[in-house]
Amino acid sequence: MKLNTNYCNLSESYLFSTIAHKVSEYQAAHPDQKILRLGIGDVTLPLAPAVIAAMHEAVDEMSEKETFRGYGPEQGYDFLRGSIQGYYARRGISLDLSEIFVSDGAKSDCGNILDIFAQDNVVLVPDPVYPVYVDTNVMAGRKILYMNATAENGFLPMPDESVHADIIYLCSPNNPTGAAYTAAQLQAWVDYAHKNNAVILYDAAYESFAAEGAARSIYEAEGAKDCAIELCSFSKTAGFTGTRCGYTVVPQALVFDGMSCNKFWLRRQTTKFNGVSYIVQRGAAAVFTEEGEKQIRANIDFYRNNAKIVSDTLDRLGIFYTGGKNSPYIWLQCPNHMKSWDFFDLLLNEVQVVGTPGSGFGRNGEGFFRLTAFGSEETTREACARIEKLLGAGK
Ligand code: PLP
Repeated sequence: MKLNTNYCNLSESYLFSTIAHKVSEYQAAHPDQKILRLGIGDVTLPLAPAVIAAMHEAVDEMSEKETFRGYGPEQGYDFLRGSIQGYYARRGISLDLSEIFVSDGAKSDCGNILDIFAQDNVVLVPDPVYPVYVDTNVMAGRKILYMNATAENGFLPMPDESVHADIIYLCSPNNPTGAAYTAAQLQAWVDYAHKNNAVILYDAAYESFAAEGAARSIYEAEGAKDCAIELCSFSKTAGFTGTRCGYTVVPQALVFDGMSCNKFWLRRQTTKFNGVSYIVQRGAAAVFTEEGEKQIRANIDFYRNNAKIVSDTLDRLGIFYTGGKNSPYIWLQCPNHMKSWDFFDLLLNEVQVVGTPGSGFGRNGEGFFRLTAFGSEETTREACARIEKLLGAGK
């Protein structure tokens, strides 16, 4: 027996454990200080009432012989796939039901989708990046190329025609940078994918935060259906981080060497996956009802308001940042050319505010810092007031 030694090539991720360690050490030494956390990537508002009501109803159905459900379809129930289809249709994107696959979240799909691609494909990922794209490909032993996301390109790298890639990862609105592509920018990526006979894996986990002209789907670009897969999630849209539900769109038009990606993915899912719980899918479908949409919009607006509190503070301080407007993430340049971890220490020690050092997301993250809008309004306001007092003092 031999292990998959590609796992030995994974770099250890100390980011969140180091943060936790530093914070608990500080708190132990300063028990009277109130630490404010603007570093979390998890939601804090509860599930919407419409979702809860639908899930309660589904629980009751499970208690009666006549309405009990056992194994469901691996691709998801038609009632949920139909709701997702309608959600896209309202944005002018027509999908066949067979192109929609319900899953337990975008993270699983990000990793699992790689099953249908050959090992010798070259992968292109932005730097900084959501670490799952890198690690899942390292596990599979694929060659990874990086594209630079920097302040110069607004953390939105565009195709480099001199580079060839087979699998391209795009995440927009982006984690960690909060930057979001327009449909015209996505068109350039679709054109590049066509030229390279490549596939785009488009992570739309934060699409519901997109505003101000930002694209919400790769399919807003012409011709995307024959080169792109879209991964999406109810986690940040509807607070499903602990409930678990997502979906992936694999168009029928996505065909390489006469073989259908949709067929391969269906085969993969029906072989290795037994579907998402009926109760959870009922809850997810409620997200798309009139009532559910209204309630979810209110939650997103709540986070959006927090993001505005942060970005307004940075505007006043004259600090460069991306995100905040189309995203719950605000990605800021550390003042005075500080390194990410030095800025982390400064905020923790001087004003007891915790964020996430950008260097944890890749080489180009050095000198940057991520704040999130997922906290309470009170925490966000207080943290921003403390940051403004600290950094504005010398102005
Ligand atoms: N994709 C991105 C870019 C994320 O930031 C996250 C979670 O933070 C996910 C996917 C995972 O989503 P899910 O909870 O659906 O697995």
